[in-house]
Amino acid sequence: MDLIFEKSRPGRQGCAIPAGDVPAVNPREVIPPSLLRDELPLPEVAEVDLIRHYTALSRRNFGVDVGFYPLGSCTMKYNPKINEDVAKFPGFTGLHPYAPVAFSQGSLQLMYELRQYLSEIFGMADFTLQPAAGAHGELTGIMIFKKYFEKTGEKRTKILIPDAAHGTNPASGALCGYRTLTVRSNADGGVDIDHLASLMSDDTAGLMLTNPNTLGLFERNIEKVSDIIHNKGGLLYGDGANANAFLGKVRPGDLGFDVIQLNLHKTFSTPHGCGGPGSGPVGVGKKLVDFLTIPRVIKTDEGFAWSSEYPDAIGRVRTFFGNFNVMVKAYAYIRTLGPAGLKRAAEIAVLNANYIKARLQPYYDLSFDRPCMHECVFSGTRQVRESGVHTSDIAKRLLDYGYHPPTIYFPLIAPEAIMIEPNETESIEILDAFCDAMIQIASEARETPKVVKSAPLTTPVKRLDEVKAAREPNVCWKG
Ligand SMILES: *Cc1c(COP(=O)(O)O)cnc(C)c1O
Repeated sequence: MDLIFEKSRPGRQGCAIPAGDVPAVNPREVIPPSLLRDELPLPEVAEVDLIRHYTALSRRNFGVDVGFYPLGSCTMKYNPKINEDVAKFPGFTGLHPYAPVAFSQGSLQLMYELRQYLSEIFGMADFTLQPAAGAHGELTGIMIFKKYFEKTGEKRTKILIPDAAHGTNPASGALCGYRTLTVRSNADGGVDIDHLASLMSDDTAGLMLTNPNTLGLFERNIEKVSDIIHNKGGLLYGDGANANAFLGKVRPGDLGFDVIQLNLHKTFSTPHGCGGPGSGPVGVGKKLVDFLTIPRVIKTDEGFAWSSEYPDAIGRVRTFFGNFNVMVKAYAYIRTLGPAGLKRAAEIAVLNANYIKARLQPYYDLSFDRPCMHECVFSGTRQVRESGVHTSDIAKRLLDYGYHPPTIYFPLIAPEAIMIEPNETESIEILDAFCDAMIQIASEARETPKVVKSAPLTTPVKRLDEVKAAREPNVCWKG
């Protein structure tokens, strides 16, 4: 495919600019020579060339509107378009953050009600919507831990994190000055209870737990875990990034979590691949409400207003009020699905993952053989052993079958991990077609391993030399 610069023809243009009605000025007479460029080699193309060029480029890409994306909510699930439509209402997009409250009642009401919905769904006393992402929510949550112990006058310097945790967990603990201690997983893929009990002490702030964890497994001993932490005066933090596994089924607040962060962009409908806008609300139990961020939307007799009259608050963690647009999408998602719909979404997300697990189990080793939640984690160890085909080869071969590969090599505790998260939006036909491709690849790995190891063979860019790509990056690739 040609670069747009190669399509350029001198004098060709995509739009007609009206003749100037002011005297022409020679740039050399008004712009200092050091700032003046002799030549600005912009492509000169007609509108139709431009449209065809970028449409052709977009067709070389893969998106969730094009096909199945087993990276799941964690990276890119299909999101109902109505949520985008609502977020585009000019009343929302045209509102200036400094607009007086009298002109922004609708937006304030939306934030107020979203906090209430989230509190009800997750069993927490209140939420802040300010954090701009999951990791930012973690940081906010651990700042609340810190403030709480400052208030109780306790000196706690350590924080516990399971070895299956997302890398952002230890980072958040460390940013707040805690030393992180790693808790081992047991043979079941859950927290090793004895190890946890041996690490929990009076100078430990608590535990950051992801449930379901990054292996897609629900922590069976959650009540025991909660007791171990609370009996030593600690707090239990929940990383709720993947809440679509349990919406409407179980509430973290009822399980003993004192603080949780959500990823609205994962669970509640915002496309966010490539680091796009996020929102990581943080919910807390009753005893921590005073420490939440300010300002907060309050309801008064005259309508909704902002208040910062919370002397124990940790302060602000974000300019203005957070990523408001993401909140609108979450609000629309919750309102369109309703309580029964949210619960159904969780049920289907879990059913879909278990369906894939059951169909692929004869062909790939499972990391932990028990019912999973929203995602199932296989291990490519059998393929490595039998034919030297690695998980990265299997992932690249999936491209030839028209699928975006799933998450691979995470979580780190599963060797050659293949983590598949199908989500609630995919039908049984899609799941079956994907499983057929995975099964076909398993047989290719045995019979024609060379093919799998040289994949992808049908994509615009073939297999990259990863070492060369890292050592000598050539960002002007053309082919
Ligand atoms: C995605 C994720 C995070 C981080 O969320 P960001 O919005 O990317 O900062 C943290 N924990 C878990 C379990 C996650 O899946």
